[in-house]
Amino acid sequence: MTLSNSTLSTLSTAKPSSSHHSSAYNNSTVTNLTAPTLIRAGTLPDAIVLDENCVIKPQIAFTRLTSFQVGGAAEWFIAPRTLEQLQMSLQWAASEGVPVTMLGRGSNLLVSDKGLPGLVISTKHLKRIEFDHEQGLVTVDAGVYLPPLARQIAQFGWQGFEWAVGVPGTIGGAVVMNAGAHGGSVSDTLVNAKVLLPDGTMQILTPEEMAFRYRTSNLQSGGRFVTQATFKLAMGADPIAVESQMNHWYDQRKSSQPYDKPSCGSVFRNPEPQKAAWLIEQAGLKGYQIGGAKVAHRHANFILNCGDATAGDIFRLIHHVRSQVKAQWDLELHPEVRMLGAFEAA
Ligand SMILES: Cc1cc2nc3c(=O)[nH]c(=O)nc-3n(C[C@H](O)[C@H](O)[C@H](O)COP(=O)(O)OP(=O)(O)OC[C@H]3O[C@@H](n4cnc5c(N)ncnc54)[C@H](O)[C@@H]3O)c2cc1C
Repeated sequence: MTLSNSTLSTLSTAKPSSSHHSSAYNNSTVTNLTAPTLIRAGTLPDAIVLDENCVIKPQIAFTRLTSFQVGGAAEWFIAPRTLEQLQMSLQWAASEGVPVTMLGRGSNLLVSDKGLPGLVISTKHLKRIEFDHEQGLVTVDAGVYLPPLARQIAQFGWQGFEWAVGVPGTIGGAVVMNAGAHGGSVSDTLVNAKVLLPDGTMQILTPEEMAFRYRTSNLQSGGRFVTQATFKLAMGADPIAVESQMNHWYDQRKSSQPYDKPSCGSVFRNPEPQKAAWLIEQAGLKGYQIGGAKVAHRHANFILNCGDATAGDIFRLIHHVRSQVKAQWDLELHPEVRMLGAFEAA
């Protein structure tokens, strides 16, 4: 199946090779940017219209943008619908000298109560998917949501993406995080990822160039924005068997993890061969609460927003759990959740 529009053709101009590929901003983009339209918005700063359907808005709350449902506001926010609009957004940020933060579903983010300066770019409208049925390849835009993609892939009897059925993030966030579950992860099947640099240059990176390790990649240091990724799956399995394996894992997650309150999933990486949840539980921290943030009873590596948590509450609880585990086990837990913005020392 091919979902295409003008942007996909732009995104597809780079050859699927392992070598770097560059392309710069096109001229029409530059022309558009020279005369942005301002929209009055009461006491807030003016919104900035870069293009039709492409408006940079001021002060958008992270409570609406992250799965933890906490945090202050993005100083500026935009959700481009095309690669050109994404490039225009980056160019606007460069011309204003403001930092850029890419946002997927915000399912692995703790953003400070003070919010974030600069431009936050959501990939939520970048969602094309292209299947190559000859080779078992799927090429996916950054904003595609993992669970339905995993189900679509399984329908063909393709294997290698079943792990993603319960991971509530986007392709972009999953590549950056090397997301995974049930023994599988992004890096197992990723062929390459297209990334934009702040100057508008496009590169195609191989997995080696992204230095994947357990729940991390070198993209986490910032400055490169994933626009698309291609995966190669194993073809030829019985679709019913693939779907049944996926459903089994999905049910397993639902019964062992708390989904009734906002969270970011697992807060800490597992210090292999130990499990963070077990260490936290043995430290007696299940149910421990600071403000509205609580260590989940059902899974001790989850911190829940009980309704009125602040990012500060969650940050202090993360610090408390780390220090207790360190004291009891002499082991350092490293957060998997990405913490953005300014936090008071706990
Ligand atoms: C209930 C629950 C269960 C979870 N279970 C799992 C699990 O089993 N396994 C697992 O690995 N994770 C799990 N997670 C965490 C999370 O879903 C994954 O890490 C996911 O890959 C994050 O994707 P996202 O789109 O939400 O990224 P975000 O949280 O929006 O961003 C994560 C990081 O990636 C950056 N980023 C996002 N998009 C881009 C882009 N296009 N280009 C460059 N940088 C970008 C952000 O700036 C940030 O630093 C879970 C979360 C929840 C809430």
